[in-house]
Amino acid sequence: MEEVLQASEERYRELFENANDIVYTHDLAGHITAVNKAGERVTGYTRAELLSFNIAQIVASDSLARAREMIEQKLAGAGLTEYELESITKDGRRVPLEVSSWLIYEDGKPVAVQGIARDITKRKRTEEELLRLSTAVRMSTDSIVISDLEGKIVEVNEATLKMYGTEDKRNLMGKSAFDLIVPADRAKAFAGMEETLAKGFVRNREYQVIVKDGSTIPVEMNIALMKDAVGEPVGFVAVSRDITEHKHLEEALRQSKEEAEAANRAKSEFLAATSHELRTPLTVILGYTSLLLEQTFGRLEAEQADPLRRIDRNAQELLDLITAVLDLSRLEAGRLPVEIREVQVPEWLEELKAETQGVWERSSLEFVWQVEGALPPIHTDPGKLKVVVKNLIGNAVKFTKAGSITVAAQGQKGGVEINVTDTGIGIPQEALALIFEPFRQVDSSGQQRGTGLGLHIVKRLLEMLGGTVTVESEGGRGSTFRVWVPRDLRTP
Ligand code: ADP
Repeated sequence: MEEVLQASEERYRELFENANDIVYTHDLAGHITAVNKAGERVTGYTRAELLSFNIAQIVASDSLARAREMIEQKLAGAGLTEYELESITKDGRRVPLEVSSWLIYEDGKPVAVQGIARDITKRKRTEEELLRLSTAVRMSTDSIVISDLEGKIVEVNEATLKMYGTEDKRNLMGKSAFDLIVPADRAKAFAGMEETLAKGFVRNREYQVIVKDGSTIPVEMNIALMKDAVGEPVGFVAVSRDITEHKHLEEALRQSKEEAEAANRAKSEFLAATSHELRTPLTVILGYTSLLLEQTFGRLEAEQADPLRRIDRNAQELLDLITAVLDLSRLEAGRLPVEIREVQVPEWLEELKAETQGVWERSSLEFVWQVEGALPPIHTDPGKLKVVVKNLIGNAVKFTKAGSITVAAQGQKGGVEINVTDTGIGIPQEALALIFEPFRQVDSSGQQRGTGLGLHIVKRLLEMLGGTVTVESEGGRGSTFRVWVPRDLRTP
């Protein structure tokens, strides 16, 4: 008998010792009289330390009242009680415990309390996380619908109720999520669900959904597959956003863009037409003026020749301005299509030299033409590139009184760089960024006149050629304009 009893006691002792939960006993004054290994593990104290403690030393002060109250209730006749409290570990951490305890009697009188306490840190953490997430779902302004694998709705958030114009969840629960979508979009939605099953999620699907009074609104939907702990799919989460407003804006934007483009085209066409009409009479004026100046119609006195030269110069300026405006308007009206050809740079530069002969022969400046030998051919629009460099040469001549102008071409970073360097008046640092804007001119004592459009046209043409233009300059020492175009415009 004794042996059997001893064996049984041994088994209970092992159960007590090895239990995952804390098993403890304390007397009615709170002195701990027994505790198992789990007690040491959770609190961080040794058993000897724990056995010298009153429970008040390991229960958080804000939980103590609850613990005492439970003992009182038991003494007053309550049975097994379950409650939560927090204990403080040796290193000062708070550990939430779920406790069930009962009284131990001797000779019919309560003498001690025995209990089991479970560390519920993990469960608390999960609960808190769940609370945070459910708050986020509740507060979301997007509709969130959770359904099972068949699409039957099992949960919706408040935004969903608002979207579908109901105050009672039950009006939606149990319904098929597909019933919310307009019939015409259901096949599409079904395909979206299949895809979600295969891929785990789909994004940015647009469907029309049926809301309160039977009217429809467009929504953008993201759907994700929901899986259980072992990875088995259990349902879907669909997050939808009302994009009515967005659609309206998009449409309004598209319309105003179209209108703006049409207005811009009309403006450019008007400019192109009027510029053309203005050029014709001006050319006639210039023709007669030059005939007069050449004294074709008879001798001119100095007092007649002088005003005539002014007329000539001003008419020429007006013609330049009109030509530039015409070029720009053609550019803007898209009437200058890019014509790509294979270009041998040295030959192209020879042509440019020939075409600008008048300019450099008339000036007293030294002209230097340099081209790197063995430049491979490039693919670009040679005509537009010429207009660009001619503009730069024209400026260089205009703003240089003495010295030289160098035009150089060499290979550079997947393309060709063409530099125009002068020894002229230079450009102040603060003006460098502005000169490429339309009608911007540096105030240069008013001697040089121009349209202020040349460099802007240069920049615009280079944009069409996929190229760039930069400038370096030092006041009084001259400027260098660097043009770069890609080797092959056909393969950007
Ligand atoms: P503009 O018809 O006035 O020359 P551009 O657009 O070609 O118009 O040039 C804008 C301004 O940039 C010019 O008015 C001038 O002040 C400055 N600029 C351009 N090229 C040079 C240069 N090579 N040297 C000095 N200043 C220049």
